[in-house]
Amino acid sequence: MTAAVDLIHAKRDGRTLSDGEISWLIDAYTNGQVADEQMSAMAMAIYFRGLTPRELRAWTDAMIASGQRLDLSAVPAPTVDKHSTGGVGDKVSLILAPLVASCGAAVPQLSGRGLGHTGGTLDKLESIAGWRAELKAPDFVSLLSTVGAVICAAGADLAPADRKLYALRDVTGTVESIPLIASSIMSKKIAEGTQSLVLDVKVGSGAFMRDLDAARELAQTMVRLGTESGVRTTALLTSMDSPLGRAVGNAVEVAESIETLRGAGPDDLVEVTLALAREMLALAGIDTDPAVALADGRALAKYREMIAGQGGNPDVPLPVARHVQIVKAPASGWLRRLDALAVGTAAWRLGAGRARKEDPVSAGAGVICKVKPGEQVKFSQPLLELRTDEPERFAAAVDALAGAIEVGPDAPVIGPAVIERIA
Ligand code: URA
Repeated sequence: MTAAVDLIHAKRDGRTLSDGEISWLIDAYTNGQVADEQMSAMAMAIYFRGLTPRELRAWTDAMIASGQRLDLSAVPAPTVDKHSTGGVGDKVSLILAPLVASCGAAVPQLSGRGLGHTGGTLDKLESIAGWRAELKAPDFVSLLSTVGAVICAAGADLAPADRKLYALRDVTGTVESIPLIASSIMSKKIAEGTQSLVLDVKVGSGAFMRDLDAARELAQTMVRLGTESGVRTTALLTSMDSPLGRAVGNAVEVAESIETLRGAGPDDLVEVTLALAREMLALAGIDTDPAVALADGRALAKYREMIAGQGGNPDVPLPVARHVQIVKAPASGWLRRLDALAVGTAAWRLGAGRARKEDPVSAGAGVICKVKPGEQVKFSQPLLELRTDEPERFAAAVDALAGAIEVGPDAPVIGPAVIERIA
């Protein structure tokens, strides 16, 4: 009989686990036969020792097998999804899903809620009056077939082992492990049943992966896992040193997404969205230029259809926070740095994010970046607009911004938003 402690010893001491041992462990953990403290020790052993490619494959397969795999074979269009490893101001899904659907693909996007400084796509969409994140599987397939773009909450039976393990990793300091992140993300995406997948792996201060080598390794690991499972998978490494676009929060990000769908989006957001759209359409075998669909209003019309399909009214004005405080430029010159993590943390402290997964989020709270790195400022000019319904939160948000803003006499060199492609 397998004993969890023997497997923990093995991994701790650098031995390789067999496929059978891994599938037993994941199954026993999901069923409650292996205790949280044992899985915590295993996660920490993996954090330090890693997993071999074969172990990672078995680990991911066991996580997929812990729940149901969705069957999207009834959907008439090619299915293609995008997953982002999470960034500050990352509202790309809200624009990308309808954009790619308006070009003829079906985008089945099962998303999560935000925890910590990165916001969740569902939290953002829930600031739209009437919009529902929870859908039954038949409604999901039917909307995917008719509208072509669905963003909704993953059901409890999609990789339940990951649900349990991710919550445990979150409180045991074992989130930032490449094999654990790769298996967590890919088990959910493979179980979702999409034919193709594009990964947006963020690199920089506001991302899980702070440096390029680690981000590249994570991307390569996930691309390999997807491809081995029969999901056509590619990845883009994109910059997350400063917030994407100008808005960080929930309703403010929805508003910026609509502006982008109207053709007036910020350059970095448009660049990342179009690059991901091109990847998705290429994988789906659709030869259409997404820039045209963005410019001619087709993507905006699809967005309205997508929101209405899930009960939302795109014509009801979005919630606006009651209180605003301005952060002014400390000097005249060029904005050289606006740290993504600090801005994300400030938005979170203003009420846009949650500390525990049960907490509510404020729809109107957030930060508007009036100036972006690479732009010129004058002393005392408004740099950031902090928004909240609870003014007592301003002080903590301002504290989060200490050291986050750098204004200097020379123009900074701003790298491209899309850094590298991994296939
Ligand atoms: N997102 C996930 O779904 N899992 C991780 O481990 C990290 C980010």
